[in-house]
Amino acid sequence: MSDVTMEKIVSLSKRRGFVYQSSEIYGGLSGSWDYGPLGIELKKNIQNFWWREMTQLHDNIVGLDAAILMHPKTWHASGHVENFTDPMVDCKNCKSRFRADQIDLTAPCPVCGAKNSFTEPRKFNLMFTTHLGPVQDDSSLLYLRPETAQGIFVNFKNVVNSTRVKIPFGIAQVGKAFRNEITTKNFIFRTVEFEQMEMQFFVKPSEAGKWFEFWKEERIKYYQKLGIHPEHLRFHQHGPDELAHYAIDAFDIQFLFPMGWQELEGIHSRSDYDLRRHAEFSGEKMEYLDQETNERYIPFVIETSAGLTRSVLMALCDAYEEQNLGEGDVRTVLHLHPHLSPVKVAVMAVVKKDGLAEIAQELEKGLREEMTTQLEMTGNIGKNYRRQDEIGTPYCLTVDYQTKEDRTVTIRFRDSMRQERIPMAEAAQRIRAFMKDYTRGQ
Ligand code: ATP
Repeated sequence: MSDVTMEKIVSLSKRRGFVYQSSEIYGGLSGSWDYGPLGIELKKNIQNFWWREMTQLHDNIVGLDAAILMHPKTWHASGHVENFTDPMVDCKNCKSRFRADQIDLTAPCPVCGAKNSFTEPRKFNLMFTTHLGPVQDDSSLLYLRPETAQGIFVNFKNVVNSTRVKIPFGIAQVGKAFRNEITTKNFIFRTVEFEQMEMQFFVKPSEAGKWFEFWKEERIKYYQKLGIHPEHLRFHQHGPDELAHYAIDAFDIQFLFPMGWQELEGIHSRSDYDLRRHAEFSGEKMEYLDQETNERYIPFVIETSAGLTRSVLMALCDAYEEQNLGEGDVRTVLHLHPHLSPVKVAVMAVVKKDGLAEIAQELEKGLREEMTTQLEMTGNIGKNYRRQDEIGTPYCLTVDYQTKEDRTVTIRFRDSMRQERIPMAEAAQRIRAFMKDYTRGQ
């Protein structure tokens, strides 16, 4: 972590096509970012890993994809219209705006230096609004969802009635959320448009404590499976004044970002708050009938809520290393877990002539059926290796004159820079095995 600064991550992201500033040609839009060719692969890989972990590997979690725009009553019921606010102050001199809880109100304005220039704190609702249809009045007011969770709660009955799920069970969803954040900074850490990976786990009220502990442990293990350094992860329990309006207990999983320990994921014990409120506001019953005991109750909910776009930043920061190879030679390498690497294998030839390019093409074509590949036909091999190191490609395969004789190629490992020869015909199978057994430094 010592090498990593946010400037280096931003610069690498732009240079190699992970993340660009949104609408950059117009000067950019504060708090909005675009994912480039490598960024979208990394983001999808994280999403797929999470989805597999949460749905496929648990027989009691199902998926959902709810709409971003929901009936506006949803947000009254959830408490967001009333409570989803941050305290905000303005500098009367330069008009800069700050979150009152993130600034010393007795100090001069950090932008213009004016003294005693802050307004009284005011509540600022973080939800973006829009209108449905051509008439823009209160009756057509809609909100861009500030969390994906409510899409799950309003579908609770649908899922229970249309599937065979039985409590305890979970509903998982990945999708966009929008928050009109007063201050957006630190690159993609805090943005106005972002993606969440949420799972709401419905349990018997008396078992909420047990399942809360279960999910805390499961979720921290997930980050370790992703190859994140355990020493860059920790829990932080919310104190009484930090708890969200719906929570009875909450832990954050924090990651050691370049700017310090910050939240990556929230694990919340939400009681029956959401289902009870939706029952009140909609008039629909949200009770669950336990077929075995004949008990009826409104389930309690344990939520695991992770930021997908924030996880992209985590993955980049955790993987980044500037490695000193001696004599002033420094290589930048992303030690991404191969599951996350945008490109799994790069294929190249030492020279393009004498039929070597064709062999490399043939090899790459065979591999692309089952993994993301890149064919490197220009530049010298050393430079290509360095370029692939910088984007986190775990394996490079190089075709040379010996390949023509014995159909073997060199495999070069990103982390250790070790090289060995393997039969071309076994490349896919070998790489699959290396990926499965990967440990950092391989
Ligand atoms: P904060 O206190 O930092 O504003 P929060 O506690 O309100 O965040 P949650 O509502 O628990 O965040 O959201 C769950 C997850 O969604 C967070 O852990 C984070 O990873 C992600 N997230 C929340 N807000 C943003 C944002 N503005 N930009 C990017 N990711 C976000």
